Amino acid sequence: MSNQIPVVVAGAGITGLSAALHLADMGAGHVLVARGPGDPSSARAPGMITGGQRDNFTRVAIAHQTDFARTMWDFGDRAFDRTVAWARSHDVNAATGRRLRLVVTPEELREATEAVKMMTSAGVTARLIQGNELKSSPWGACLGSRVIAIQDEGDRGGWIDAGMMHLRMLETAQKHPSISFTELSVEDVEGYANEDLVVTIGNKRHAAAALIVACHLSTGDIVPSLKAALVSSADQWLTASGPLDPGNRLSAWNRSGIAWSALHNHEWGSTLPRGRLLMGGGRVLRKWAGFEATEANVEERITNYIVDQATKTFAHWNQPDTSSLRAQAGLDCHPCDELPVIGPMYGEGRILVAAGFMGQGVTLGFQAGYCLAKLLMTGACQELPRRLWPERLRSLTDKE
Ligand SMILES: Cc1cc2nc3c(=O)[nH]c(=O)nc-3n(C[C@H](O)[C@H](O)[C@H](O)COP(=O)(O)OP(=O)(O)OC[C@H]3O[C@@H](n4cnc5c(N)ncnc54)[C@H](O)[C@@H]3O)c2cc1C
Repeated sequence: MSNQIPVVVAGAGITGLSAALHLADMGAGHVLVARGPGDPSSARAPGMITGGQRDNFTRVAIAHQTDFARTMWDFGDRAFDRTVAWARSHDVNAATGRRLRLVVTPEELREATEAVKMMTSAGVTARLIQGNELKSSPWGACLGSRVIAIQDEGDRGGWIDAGMMHLRMLETAQKHPSISFTELSVEDVEGYANEDLVVTIGNKRHAAAALIVACHLSTGDIVPSLKAALVSSADQWLTASGPLDPGNRLSAWNRSGIAWSALHNHEWGSTLPRGRLLMGGGRVLRKWAGFEATEANVEERITNYIVDQATKTFAHWNQPDTSSLRAQAGLDCHPCDELPVIGPMYGEGRILVAAGFMGQGVTLGFQAGYCLAKLLMTGACQELPRRLWPERLRSLTDKE
């Protein structure tokens, strides 16, 4: 191991490990990863993956203009491609298929119609399937009457075994001669006026060339000025037996890697290998729709809701006995303006942050790690939109 001043990475989830691996591959002489407390969310993420963004195009375009929505779609697509390519080259189970937004209310139909129009004119793949076309399509054949249309975004859906992905990334990093690990946490960082950045890991102060903060909801403990901007949200998921079309082995829905959502992503899931299903959601049943939750508990009524909704959505699916299902819950991280926070801190470019992936952390976290490594090692990263940098949140902290 080189004894040169390390780049310190705080957090060894998918984001931190991606940063460490990409830094080392790009020639960083010494990367020190502080693993911190507890298991990373990445190790047990359900693993639905999509290109583009989880939110519909209209939502991103209305909040941040159409051009930027297109930029975010490209960013999400690159994240998807890069993550899947790494997974496939490291024997991680992954399947890709269609990305389908199932439209179940007239309001969503209006939104989907507008979204498809905007996406088409921005050059993003999207198509609305409804009426007789829906009934006769291979997708419509398995859906209940609840589904009135589909926003089909092409082959931009999938599933990844996130636990295996995390393990392979960890093993690869542990074998890399330029990467070392400590089980301790980053407790503090002093930069600004100092020639060297000083990072306190456990109770020891280390000179560091840079610090990458990849700590998910704990980001604000290291960078307090971002604390107010990163909001927690609780959500829940389960896996169940399938398939969605038991009578037809060749049905379009019986492939693994189809990612769907409904009701503005309050219901979501993907088809898994061996005919199993991942399904999640029901956040709307939680207090404040799960926002600002401090812990995420599995709620039985939400498990029942997820299964009931899926039964209404998929006409031929045999509803399992819910008592046999093992549901899981977790806390995700939403930035206040619903854009991930990725980039150098204002005023101290040697501290870089990556958090706030709103349900897309497996792919966006992987991509964020790549982008921060590129930025540090070459001084620029064309793939990282400047608008994702933390500087946009500056006015928030000015008001505090
Ligand atoms: C219910 C739910 C469902 C989800 N579904 C999906 C999905 O289907 N697909 C998808 O892509 N994403 C999904 N996500 C999001 C995804 O799980 C996360 O975005 C992603 O795992 C975050 O990865 P990370 O590496 O940034 O953080 P983590 O994996 O949480 O890693 C952060 C690490 O930092 C460590 N740490 C904390 N403080 C310190 C410190 N001071 N010093 C050093 N280390 C520290 C923690 O111990 C942790 O190990 C879901 C999230 C939830 C809650």
